[in-house]
Amino acid sequence: MAATLLADASIRLENALQHVNISDDAIERLKYPKTSLMVSIPVRMDNGSLKIFRGYRVRYDDTRGPGKGGVRYHPNVSLDEVQSLAFWMTFKCALLDLPFGGAKGGITVDPKALSKAELERLSRGYIEAIADSIGPDTDILAPDVYTNAMIMGWMMDHYSIIYRKIVPGVVTGKPLSMGGSQGRETATATGAFHVINTICEKLGRIPEKTTVAVQGFGNAGAEIAQQLANSGYRVVAVSDSRGGIYAEQGLDIPSIRHYKQENRGIQAVYCEKTLCNIVEHKVISNEELLMLDVDILVPAALENQITADNAEQVKAKLIFEVANGPISSDADQILERKNIVVVPDILTNAGGVTVSHFEWVQNRNGFYWTVAEVNQKLKEKMITATENVWQIYSSKNISMRTAAYVQALNRLGDALDAKGTRNYFVGK
Ligand code: GLU
Repeated sequence: MAATLLADASIRLENALQHVNISDDAIERLKYPKTSLMVSIPVRMDNGSLKIFRGYRVRYDDTRGPGKGGVRYHPNVSLDEVQSLAFWMTFKCALLDLPFGGAKGGITVDPKALSKAELERLSRGYIEAIADSIGPDTDILAPDVYTNAMIMGWMMDHYSIIYRKIVPGVVTGKPLSMGGSQGRETATATGAFHVINTICEKLGRIPEKTTVAVQGFGNAGAEIAQQLANSGYRVVAVSDSRGGIYAEQGLDIPSIRHYKQENRGIQAVYCEKTLCNIVEHKVISNEELLMLDVDILVPAALENQITADNAEQVKAKLIFEVANGPISSDADQILERKNIVVVPDILTNAGGVTVSHFEWVQNRNGFYWTVAEVNQKLKEKMITATENVWQIYSSKNISMRTAAYVQALNRLGDALDAKGTRNYFVGK
């Protein structure tokens, strides 16, 4: 593991460089984030006290279009993390051929410790602080870990108040009633589902004979577990931040989701209507879930879950990164040696930003699509990107991660070179 998350993320770039033919100038540009904004957000708390929160917005690169990326609320948010997440967004958008650069934002906060009104004041305060550097043609926000449609609605509303006009395209992942898109809430999982299905088909894997463990039971994790279970995959383990459950016969994901909504936390239950009974299961830790002897492992929580310290114990045959950055670069090498195929985050979880793009397009046109249209377009985008990566992976005999970076780098390199050298004369 490199000294910082961003340095670790950049190792993936280095690995791909030997397989692409782009100019040294373009490579040099891609090593550094374009702008990193750090702000202090004063919030009046419910008890009358004033609390200052630290917020960030990083635009890593905008050569291919306006910056694009989510906003994360988490106690561990740091500038290094936000820069890395913005780096990943840059490559993700290029890989999916979306007309966006990469950006990310975050606030260092435990959102579970705030009341709804405090959360709203914090979200509006964040927009107040970064309003000058975002916009539908400059940098577009979206949900990420512990942020959701409600928060996106407040953010869009606040930006519109500042600019004295309705600007829906500055934020995606909004509530439907405020210009959100059908299918956005489930898009990350639906996109991942298409990637998993496409790769499994290529490997001759049959869903009914495939066991799956999912780490993380948030917007992406719970939904991907459900979609896989619906299509016949046997989801044997799931976990949330407090720990996990394992049942060899497979888990009833809708029941577990229902239970979590009512009670917080997950429990191995089978529910009929509102009556839930506990079924036979083993309680496991998040760490144990990663070591299970399953066919497919889906890390869908936070970064750096599989590192050089535990990669040796991973037994899954295939890993699909639904979270951003769940595997460190040194763990990559260990997994590769063990012949574990890793399908990278910038492909697997790109469904979210893909439907964010659809939302932005709909906002600009003022004409809205049906859920069937959104899902059909999402499917096409995800399968095309997966096929592209697969083709590079199998023809160049490199890891799927490096193949994804090669594809993205070629697009970014073309755009950087096409833009010319004007920037190098600024200030002369
Ligand atoms: N937060 C999501 C991601 O990491 C979605 C970003 C977006 O829609 O802009 O890809």
